[in-house]
Amino acid sequence: MVGWREVAAEFAGTALLLLLAVSAIVAGFAAGSPIVGAVPDEYLRRLMTGVLIAAAAAGIVYSPLGRISGGHLNPAVTTGFWVLGKLTSGSALRYAAAQVAGATTGALVALLVWGHAAVSVRVGATVPRLGGAAAALGAETLMTFLLLTLIFTFVDHPRLMPFTAASTALLVAVLMLAEAPVSGTSLNPARSFGPALVGATWTGLWVYVVAPTLGALAAALLHRHRRGTVACGKLLHDNAYRCRFLNCAYTPPRDRVQRLRRHHYSRREQPKMKAIAVYPGKADSAHLTDVPRPAVTDVPGGHGVLVRVLRVGLDGTDKEINAGEYGTAPAGEDILITGHESLGVVEEVGPAVSEVRPGDLVVARVRRAGGSLYDLIDTPDMTDDEAYFEHGISRVHGFLREYYAEEPRYLIPVPAALRHVAVLLEPTSVAEKGILQAYDIQRRLKVWHPSRAAVLGAGTIGLLATMILRNRGLEVTTFGLEQAPYLNSELVEAIGASYVSTRQTSPAQVAAEGGAFDLVFEATGYSPIVFDAMCGLLAKNGVLILSSVTGGMRRSEVPSDAINLDFVLGNKVMFGTVNASREHFEEGVRDLAVAEARTPGWLSRLLTHPIPGLDRYADALTALGEPGAIKVYVEVSPDNV
Ligand code: BGC
Ligand code: ZN
Repeated sequence: MVGWREVAAEFAGTALLLLLAVSAIVAGFAAGSPIVGAVPDEYLRRLMTGVLIAAAAAGIVYSPLGRISGGHLNPAVTTGFWVLGKLTSGSALRYAAAQVAGATTGALVALLVWGHAAVSVRVGATVPRLGGAAAALGAETLMTFLLLTLIFTFVDHPRLMPFTAASTALLVAVLMLAEAPVSGTSLNPARSFGPALVGATWTGLWVYVVAPTLGALAAALLHRHRRGTVACGKLLHDNAYRCRFLNCAYTPPRDRVQRLRRHHYSRREQPKMKAIAVYPGKADSAHLTDVPRPAVTDVPGGHGVLVRVLRVGLDGTDKEINAGEYGTAPAGEDILITGHESLGVVEEVGPAVSEVRPGDLVVARVRRAGGSLYDLIDTPDMTDDEAYFEHGISRVHGFLREYYAEEPRYLIPVPAALRHVAVLLEPTSVAEKGILQAYDIQRRLKVWHPSRAAVLGAGTIGLLATMILRNRGLEVTTFGLEQAPYLNSELVEAIGASYVSTRQTSPAQVAAEGGAFDLVFEATGYSPIVFDAMCGLLAKNGVLILSSVTGGMRRSEVPSDAINLDFVLGNKVMFGTVNASREHFEEGVRDLAVAEARTPGWLSRLLTHPIPGLDRYADALTALGEPGAIKVYVEVSPDNV
C-alpha cells in the first residue's frame, strides 16, 4: 500500500506540473505575452507549448518526486495501474485525491503568479472545440488509450522502463500539436479539473473525466488480457527509492557482458530461480539449487497461474524427507523440491483463468489428482491409487522456490486480512479434514451432539485442532508432554481449552475423573498412544481421529481384548485421515478468520520461527527440532506489499 510520502510526492508533482503547464500556455497564448508577438505562427507556438508541457511532465517523473510516487500525475494512469493490480482501491483513491488537489493548487498558484494573463487563457482550462463534445470525447479516449498502452509496454520491459517518461513526452507533444484544436489534449482528469475549478470554466469538463478514464480502462484491460499484469506500478522504478506498489516484479536489466554471453551460448536460455531440493532417500541432502523458472504458459490451455511464493512452513514431514526416510522425486528426476505449506501471491494468469487475479493471495493444495474415482471427483486426498502425488513430498515438486505455475483448481484464495497467518492454512486444512470427516461419520447416529473433546499433542496440528473444536463450541482438553506453563500450554488456555501435561496426569485419568470424550483427535506422532486412546478415553458412540504420519517401525503390546470389547459395546469408531481437499482448505480459511476475530494475535503466536530467505534453509531444519518451536517457516520473498 502506498504511504503518505508517496501521496505527498504525487500531490507536489501534479501541482508542479499544472503550474508549469499553465505557465507554458500563458507564455504561448496569453494576451500581452511577448512570445505571441515574437512568434506570430500559432502552429509554432502550439508546438513550443506542447514540448514545454510534455518536457515538464517527463522532468517531474525523472525527479525525486516521480521516483518516490511513481509519477502518475494523472488519475487515468492510476486507474490503469489499479486495474492491473498494482495498488489497492484505497491507495488508488488516495492518489487520485492527491492529483486533483495538486492540480487545483498548481492552477491556483499559476493564477496568483500570472494574474490577468492567466485569466485570458482561462487558467489553461481544456474545452471541446472543433467537432464539439463528441469529437473531444472520442479523441481524448483514443489518445489516453495510446498513452497508457505505451506506458504499460515500457514499464513491463526493464530495458525500456528508463525511457517510459521520455517516450511518453514525445507522444504527448505530438498529440498536443496535432489534436489540441479538437479538445485541448488533456488526457488527464486532474489536469482539466484544476483549471476548471480555479478559472470557473465548467464547459465540457465531464468529457475530460469520462474519456481519459475510458481510455485508461481499455488500455489496462487489454494489457491484462495479454500479459496478466505489469511489472511495476511506477513509471520509473529506481531501487534507491522504496517501491510500495503491489507485487513489484521489476528486475534490473542484465548487464551487457552477460547479455552477450547468453547470446553466444544459447539463444533461448530459460531464466532461473532458487529452490531447496533433496535427493529422496539420502539423509541430509537438502541443498540450495538453481532450477528453471516456471512460466504461466507451462500450464496448457491458458489455464496457468504464475504464483510468487511468499512463505513456506515446515513440519515433521519435511524433517523425515531430509532424513531420507520419506519422499519421492518426480518421474525421471533425481531431486525433489521440498515444501508443502505455502503462501503465495498471484503474479500472472493465463487468458482462460477467471478464478484468481494478479495480486490475489493463494495457498496451494498439496495433493494433485491421480487416476482413481476419488481423484476424478476432485478428492485426491481420498485416492486409492498406490502412488499419490503430493507437492514437496511425493512425485511433484514442492514450494520452497521463488515461483510455481499451477491450475486454479489447486489454489485456494485467501483474504488479504489473513496474509500474516495464512501460511498456517495447510496444516489447518489437515486438522479440518479430520474433524469434518468425524462429523460426517457420526451422522450414523442421527443425533450427535459432542460436548467434550480431547486433543492428543500440543504441536501445530494439536493447537489448530484445539482451535477448530473451540470455534465449534466444544469443551476441549489438550494433552502435551511438557509441564505447564510454557508457550503451547498458554496458547491452549488462551482460547479457553484446558492443558494437561501427560507427565503428571494420563489422559485416561482425566477421562475417569471428568468424564470420557465424545471426540478424540490424535496428533502426537507417537503411535503407542493410539492404543491408550482406544482404552477408556472415548465415550460411548465416540469417535477417534488418527492423523499422525509415523514412518518408523515401532511395535507395542496392547490389551486387545479390552480394546475390542470397549469398541464393540460402545459402538465406537476410529479412523485415519490424511491430507485435505478443497472444502477443508476453505473451512480452514473460515476457522482462521474466526480465530483471528475472537482472539486477535493468537495465530501469530504460533509463528515462532521465521527464517529469512531460501539460503537459510539449514537454519530452518535446525529450528524444527528446537524447544519452543511451533511453526518454523521460510520467508521466501521479501514482503513489499
Ligand atoms: C502434509 C499432508 C500430507 C501428509 C502425508 C503432511 O505433512 O501436511 O498434506 O498428505 O504429510 O504425506
Ligand atoms: Zn517497483
